[in-house]
Amino acid sequence: SSDGATVYEPQKVVIIGAGPVGSLAGLYFAKGGWQVTVYELRGDLRNPENRSLNFTKSINLAISERGINGLRTVDPELTESILDESIPMHGRMIHDKRGRQSSQKYDVHKRFIRSIDRSGLNEKLLDELERMNNVELKFNHSLKSLSLEKNEAVFERRLGNGDYENVRVQADLFIGADGAHSQTRRQMMKYVRLNYSQEYIDSLWCEFQIPPHPETGDFQLDPNHLHIWPRQTFMFIALPNQDRSFTCTLFMPEDMFKDIVGPEALLGFFRKEFPDVVSLAGEENLIGDYLKNQKLPLISLKCNPYHYRNKCVILGDASHAMVPFYGQGMNCGFEDVRVLWEHICNDATLTEALDNYTAERHPDCVVINDLAMNNYVEMRASVTSTSYLLKKHFQEFLYSWFPCLGVRTLYSMISFSNIRYSEVMKRVKRQERVLGAMGTMIMFGATGAAGYVVWKKGWYKDGWAVLLSWREEVMKMNGGSIRGWRP
Ligand code: FAD
Repeated sequence: SSDGATVYEPQKVVIIGAGPVGSLAGLYFAKGGWQVTVYELRGDLRNPENRSLNFTKSINLAISERGINGLRTVDPELTESILDESIPMHGRMIHDKRGRQSSQKYDVHKRFIRSIDRSGLNEKLLDELERMNNVELKFNHSLKSLSLEKNEAVFERRLGNGDYENVRVQADLFIGADGAHSQTRRQMMKYVRLNYSQEYIDSLWCEFQIPPHPETGDFQLDPNHLHIWPRQTFMFIALPNQDRSFTCTLFMPEDMFKDIVGPEALLGFFRKEFPDVVSLAGEENLIGDYLKNQKLPLISLKCNPYHYRNKCVILGDASHAMVPFYGQGMNCGFEDVRVLWEHICNDATLTEALDNYTAERHPDCVVINDLAMNNYVEMRASVTSTSYLLKKHFQEFLYSWFPCLGVRTLYSMISFSNIRYSEVMKRVKRQERVLGAMGTMIMFGATGAAGYVVWKKGWYKDGWAVLLSWREEVMKMNGGSIRGWRP
């Protein structure tokens, strides 16, 4: 309603998936007075025995303004305690093949992104959920089917003895936060004409560790940077952890992974491409991690709509999994939850809230999905190019010295603001037109000024004389005519 109050009663919501996005959604709905049950396929990740089950997810990730805003809006205190355990990263540290490092700051106003432990974040959200008496957490439950006309879901529950039993559940609203291979999305497709596309990129990723310094126990690299070893068609990155180690990821085309067979080939590859990493990580660790850790694919997916009537909606990776090169996947998922909740609080009916959610969110998620894909090239190749650096510095110069022009880098608007992704894109296009026009004006201005000086000083007379003598030379060579002459 227009006064911002919900005109329908809070009801029963079932959330599928207790990853970061599902857990945050649980918190919003629970604090809003809904009866919340979260069903998770895996065991409770707070139980050390279950940690290894989530091996397909990176250990740490970059959280920035959108993710933080998603958390802060529902629970500022919890946000503080989560951020206390993060490590600021003020820029990229680029490592070349000779081991030289150069820092590129993310923002002229010293804003930064943060490296955060993924399971630590997820655990804190689950702890907070568990404290609320209108929340139930159900682990080892896998969604099998949804009968949305009957408001019913069927989960398969894994029993201690390895058997399974089916559990039927009723709810007013189902929220699918069950990741890229979402079963909720698959089930929703039976009810709504859901357009869907997905793409696996050619590169796979594999995780490595750089331990703390063996003697001092300190970080072996500057902890306040996201470290990148860009090598054109592949790259290695490292993010700091609280225990002073770094978690590193090698992104590389599948064929190159296939060529590295055995420890010697691996060490040869690292010695050639990332020689400094060999001494930082240690040969044995590199070999161990490479043999033990999976080489995992990267998927980018888009779909539309994200909901079915007032019954079901998908959030996070379930609706827009993206490649990780803008560090926005989870941030965008947290923003999904905040935007959905805004609609639930402000729109007249739940149907309207979900309709408006898809209408608002889809164009935004498409933009960030595409940007993430393009950023792979930027991270592994462009960051070392002079034209890229010149453009970045010029924009930053205008941003810090002429803020009235409103020029900001794309990166700063994506990572340090809550401006809608689609609006960011519009601003960037507008900005490029303005900068293009400024460039043209500067060029014309400079040419005009140069012309004036030449005319004023009379230099054009010398120039004219040179031209005439050149013409005579040419005519001599060309049998008395300038026509048809080729240098
Ligand atoms: P998920 O984390 O996939 O969670 C889904 C949950 O649903 C899981 O717990 C799963 O067990 C459960 N589930 C699945 N199926 C069922 C079922 N049938 N029934 C019940 N439960 C089910 N994002 C960033 O913001 N910053 C980064 O720096 C960043 N780095 C990344 C690096 C890599 C290498 C990768 C691969 C991703 C990165 N991301 C990053 C993206 C980020 O990991 C995801 O966007 C985020 O995890 C999405 O959260 P989610 O809760 O939507 O899905």
